Amino acid sequence: MTHPVQPVAIALGSNLGDSSGTLAKALDALAHIEGVTVQCRSSWYRSTAIGPVQPDYLNGCALLQVSLAPEKLLDCLLETEQRFGRQRAERWGPRTLDLDLLFYAQLRLDTERLQVPHPRLRERAFVLQPLAEIAPDWVDPVSGSTVQDLAALLGEESLVERLEDSH
Ligand code: ADP
Ligand code: MG
Repeated sequence: MTHPVQPVAIALGSNLGDSSGTLAKALDALAHIEGVTVQCRSSWYRSTAIGPVQPDYLNGCALLQVSLAPEKLLDCLLETEQRFGRQRAERWGPRTLDLDLLFYAQLRLDTERLQVPHPRLRERAFVLQPLAEIAPDWVDPVSGSTVQDLAALLGEESLVERLEDSH
């Protein structure tokens, strides 16, 4: 079944192996999926990992145009994680690739497998900073605030470093 085309925002992260290579290849893989168009991506950002002691993360966000249902898109993201060798050992442990669905148009969804908007995006500078670069005016349907305003709320405590020449 084909779906109407919808704007989507995703987050990408990696802290094992060649992270910038992995993020670039993951976006390329997503661009090859039928029903997915990659519009743009942010710069890559370095952030300190939460959870167990582990290497810094490389993070970024991308905007897509998608004609897949949200659950189907999640399947594609999880398959792409697997393709890049993600092993699920411990929660919030190091991973070669993490792909999160942040926004699917203005949809709100809360099922066991999929919550949209992503429930933790408002507290994560490593999501909001890159997203503010490419979608500052996107309105979060839960809080009613723009991405730019959500990012500003986090202020100075953010431990995120934008990397130069990352495009
Ligand atoms: P996190 O990305 O928060 O560190 P994980 O990547 O380990 O956590 O969690 C993956 C699981 O979270 C998936 O199996 C998926 O079913 C569930 N999930 C729920 N909502 C989302 C979402 N918006 N984006 C990605 N995964 C989600
Ligand atoms: Mg994830």
